[in-house]
Amino acid sequence: MGKKWHEQSTEEVMKALESSRRGLSGPEAARRLAGHGPNRLVEKKKRSLAMMFLDQFKDFMIIILMGAAVVAGAIGELTDTLVIMLIVVVNAVIGFVQEYRAGKAMDALKAMAAFQAGAVRDGVVSHIPATELVPGDVVILETGAVIPADLRLVEAAMLRVDEAALTGESFPVEKMTKAMDGPGVSLGDRLNMGYKGTIVSYGRGVGLVVATGMSTELGKIAGMLQDEEEVRTPLQKRLAVFGRRLAIAVLVICAVIFTMGFVRGVEPLFMLLTAISLAVAAIPEALPAVITISLALGARKMVARNALVRKLPAVETLGSVTYICSDKTGTLTENRMTVEEIYKDGVTMGSGDPLVEKDGYLLTAIALNNDAVSDGNGNIIGDPTETALYRVAAAHDCEREIVERKMPRVAELPFDSERKCMTTIHRMGDGRFVSFTKGAVDSLIDRLVLGESGEKAASRDEIVKVGDGMAKRGLRVLLYAVKEWDVLPEPVAPGTVETGLTFVGLAGLLDPPREEAKDAVALCKEAGIRPVMITGDHPLTAGVIARRIGIIADGSNQAVMTGRELEGLSDVELEEGIDEVRVYARVAPEQKLRIVKALQKRGEFVAMTGDGVNDAPALKRADIGIAMGITGTDVSKEAAHMILLDDNFATIVNAVREGRKIYDNIRKFIRYLLTTNSGEIWTLFLAQMAGFPVPLLPVHILWVNLITDGLPALALSAEPAEGDIMKRKPRHPKESIFAHGLGVQAFWVGLFMAVLVLAVQYFAIYGKVGQWQTMVFTVLCLTQLGNCLAVRSEKQSLFKQGLFSNKPLLGAVTLSFGLQMAIIYAPGLQKIFHTQPLNMSQLGVCIAVSSLVFFAVETEKMFRRIGEKKGAMPNPR
Ligand code: ATP
Repeated sequence: MGKKWHEQSTEEVMKALESSRRGLSGPEAARRLAGHGPNRLVEKKKRSLAMMFLDQFKDFMIIILMGAAVVAGAIGELTDTLVIMLIVVVNAVIGFVQEYRAGKAMDALKAMAAFQAGAVRDGVVSHIPATELVPGDVVILETGAVIPADLRLVEAAMLRVDEAALTGESFPVEKMTKAMDGPGVSLGDRLNMGYKGTIVSYGRGVGLVVATGMSTELGKIAGMLQDEEEVRTPLQKRLAVFGRRLAIAVLVICAVIFTMGFVRGVEPLFMLLTAISLAVAAIPEALPAVITISLALGARKMVARNALVRKLPAVETLGSVTYICSDKTGTLTENRMTVEEIYKDGVTMGSGDPLVEKDGYLLTAIALNNDAVSDGNGNIIGDPTETALYRVAAAHDCEREIVERKMPRVAELPFDSERKCMTTIHRMGDGRFVSFTKGAVDSLIDRLVLGESGEKAASRDEIVKVGDGMAKRGLRVLLYAVKEWDVLPEPVAPGTVETGLTFVGLAGLLDPPREEAKDAVALCKEAGIRPVMITGDHPLTAGVIARRIGIIADGSNQAVMTGRELEGLSDVELEEGIDEVRVYARVAPEQKLRIVKALQKRGEFVAMTGDGVNDAPALKRADIGIAMGITGTDVSKEAAHMILLDDNFATIVNAVREGRKIYDNIRKFIRYLLTTNSGEIWTLFLAQMAGFPVPLLPVHILWVNLITDGLPALALSAEPAEGDIMKRKPRHPKESIFAHGLGVQAFWVGLFMAVLVLAVQYFAIYGKVGQWQTMVFTVLCLTQLGNCLAVRSEKQSLFKQGLFSNKPLLGAVTLSFGLQMAIIYAPGLQKIFHTQPLNMSQLGVCIAVSSLVFFAVETEKMFRRIGEKKGAMPNPR
């Protein structure tokens, strides 16, 4: 066997993999992808479709029902058996389709949340799905990235990798590119390799893919990491418990009904079939699947509006958010930086002014201390701060690439949000070195040697004053400094390099607030949600922007708190004062965690945005952690519950709105299902108590169940958001799904339905109206449809909502009505369902009586509205 990857030089590896620094060509990559397969760990075998379908029959009650139906067929009516079987199959198909759709929607979400990798193909960096990487690909590594495949590193700038996932070693390992000796070096000691699934915790690098998918070291141990268990949402968990209890209660009631019928001398088999049908109908076995669909489809809608949900529970908990803590740059602002002002040699000027590079270093510093690159077609690629500065230098004939030819970069200290600065070191023509540092004024001011280079040199006070002046105009201020070296500082570290610097100048960059941010902030406040800005930027800059978009209300004493002030506070003091703070400036990412905790201690439900590696703990801890899709690191995305594909604050607010709507609709669905089931149970139970003949045949019960569990219920999830959805206060996260009278309503509406049904039964039998069973069956069915229309809103009347504002539902109700009519009037169906045609007055009575349920629920809503008007209070946010 030849040398292992870590023993070979980078050139050898390049050659062995037939690649170069320009990466592979498109066709070559495609060829290799076909050969090696996608770069993913092989997943567990999925359940086949057939199995999924068969699983629908596994339900205990369904098996009993089928058994009973077969027995019934054996001793008598074969049609009954067939109809019951048919209904069971249709039920299974509905269940199957629901489960399949839920699974598909979840898969689609997962695929969208998959990682991208920056790969060099044909000499150009492009972002491709990490699954498409092949051996030989050249991959760019940035801080916060999850390494997408096994790599031999060919470039490492202070690159540190957290390999805990693979080796268990919790300290990040500093990487290098030199070949190493000995094949026996353990994985953790192979310093020139990067392994799939580990995390770049610092620095920058480039690696050559040597293994993908199951051939990677992670792939070899993948079996252990396979089981990504399905997380159930709080609602799903609660409903599962509720479902079990309900099932037991229903079974008890059914047993009682059966016993009573038996004692009264009804034929036992018929009574048994009735009781079982009722149990099948009243146990809401479809509930979990329907909830998953509502959430997953809701999540899909959210993606269309740029909010990608990674963890399903977020969809439902979004509605409870009381605080949104948002980054500034790129989220509340556009992250389209332009250099507005330059300060140099005691003068502040516009960036367009001819800055003649005579004796100063400023333009050279701006050009060289820069990570943006030109793609050769006039596009500048990189972080907006960097590209803006690149452009300014280039506009003054100081293009980075050209200047760098004379002064190549030999070392660097990459930017990090803790130091708030970055440094590059260059070799000069005479063999000496120069370092350029740029960063926040307050971070660098104490590292300057001031007042030494003649009288023109700015004083500390002067620099701070000019900087603050720019910040008050809403600009982000960067200070440039320089230092010359005879020999390269050793080691290249912040402590040795970023000290004793000479001031060069200031640059003020404007990043305008996003247009939609102002409206979104106003909407938040109306919805009882408090928006708060957390930024690494200067307090003055942050304060100005916060006022412009309304986060700080005009004329209020709402405050800006700096990271340093925050540091000085105890946890208790922080909790006490936190109510008034609207902006946190110059905060280190670690402090975000403290803010989240303090808010949560006060009972707030916190959404928090973040993009860096260090944001991950705060994102995890927040009730809704939100990562940035464009600027966010893999690590932050992995920790987040939701990803903003457009990095936009307004998208969060839209997602909250969508979350509230989805929860509302789930409640509507549950309300409908429970009233329906309670109606069926009450009917059969009270009939037994009153000594009436059993009002419905098993097929009738199953049919009503099919109608209610079927289309109308699903159409409820298409219900548009109610008008007041962003005017209400956030829902308390622990609030029961049965809150606000849902449970009580299911109880009384069901009872009311039963009373109506039994009244019809009574008068039809004793008034000799005839066809009593068909009438009872019809009334029960139609009351459900009326109820379905009425539960569309908790408060608003249907007439205000408009019959046509949910067309799927109207269609479903109309279709169900049509089917019911067919069952009554079509001779073929009459035989199957044991119905007789109703004459006009009989049908008229049925429709009139059924509509009473609709009016009763509407009346309740009216009282609710009146009650609310009396107790109305404006949201205090
Ligand atoms: P947020 O998204 O939290 O609002 P931010 O952009 O304000 O983030 P950072 O990106 O951490 O915060 O920047 C913090 C400070 O670091 C800035 O105020 C600026 O002074 C400095 N800084 C930002 N980008 C650079 C850069 N590319 N080079 C040097 N210094 C920088």
